[in-house]
Amino acid sequence: QAKFNGRNTYKFYTESMNVAVMRRMSLENAMRLSLEREDFFVVYQPQFDIKSGQIVGAEALARWHHAELGIISPAEFIPVAEECGLIVTLGQSVLRQACRQMQQWLLQGHYLRVSVNVSCVQFLRHNLLQTVIEILEETGLPPHHLELELTESILVTDPEYVLQVVNTLNQRGVQFSIDDFGTGYSSLSYLKRFAVDKLKIDQSFVRDIPGDADDEVLVEAIVNLAHNLRLKCIAEGVETQVQADFLRQLGCDQIQGYLLGRPLSVDAMQQLLSSQSR
Ligand code: C2E
Ligand code: MG
Ligand code: MG
Ligand code: MG
Repeated sequence: QAKFNGRNTYKFYTESMNVAVMRRMSLENAMRLSLEREDFFVVYQPQFDIKSGQIVGAEALARWHHAELGIISPAEFIPVAEECGLIVTLGQSVLRQACRQMQQWLLQGHYLRVSVNVSCVQFLRHNLLQTVIEILEETGLPPHHLELELTESILVTDPEYVLQVVNTLNQRGVQFSIDDFGTGYSSLSYLKRFAVDKLKIDQSFVRDIPGDADDEVLVEAIVNLAHNLRLKCIAEGVETQVQADFLRQLGCDQIQGYLLGRPLSVDAMQQLLSSQSR
């Protein structure tokens, strides 16, 4: 009896362990090792003031180059890291690298701001307040040169707790932006309660402007909403000059996208900053 059960169980698992599950497990194991070996690194995508063309910020984006698996996209490894809790360690590593790098650029006379993505799991199941304060102290980065990108889902999941953390960090000078704005939950009431400084217009609204009448209206509405609340706005995923021109006409403050700069290695970003300040 036991043997038959054993066999059936075995058969059941081999059939259900499809390619996706195997991939997920191998990614999780590889991620544990890579975190120990510090195989994750950070690239920086420049953010430009739309009027002056000056670089005003850089978004830190995690990259994973695994010896055997090759380059793995954050779209694939961030969700895995969130599910298995490794996002906390990974997120800390990105934050530390970004703050350390930003402090170096500051010392070289480059006055920009680094923005770092914070995942829901990292914010809610972990003492983010303490981590941020410790990393700022350790790296010496003045808080107003750090921006944290939050998603709408973070703000609605545990508003009282998040409000306290966000407002405490903001009082110390840390800036906050809402990433992928407009793609999450629809309640806008959080915008007046949280000390948010900037809305990031999601790429999906930018892709078909000008041309798509609905997207044109939505982007214009977000820009106006931001300004009426005394917030800045930045458009993500700007790939063409006509998109940039359209956004400038609407009064959007900043742009980020392949048109003006892809995510860059530290060295490439360094070169871009030096060439701009000359
Ligand atoms: P995101 O925060 O919305 O970042 C913007 C994504 O759009 C980046 O993808 C960037 O490379 C891409 N992008 C920028 N400009 C353009 C453009 O002109 N055209 C197109 N088609 N794409 C553009 P990436 O680096 O693959 O990151 C994907 C997502 O993974 C990020 O979306 C973010 O949600 C997440 N992510 C990346 N690094 C981290 C991290 O350190 N922590 C957390 N929690 N999430 C991260
Ligand atoms: Mg982001
Ligand atoms: Mg985004
Ligand atoms: Mg996005």
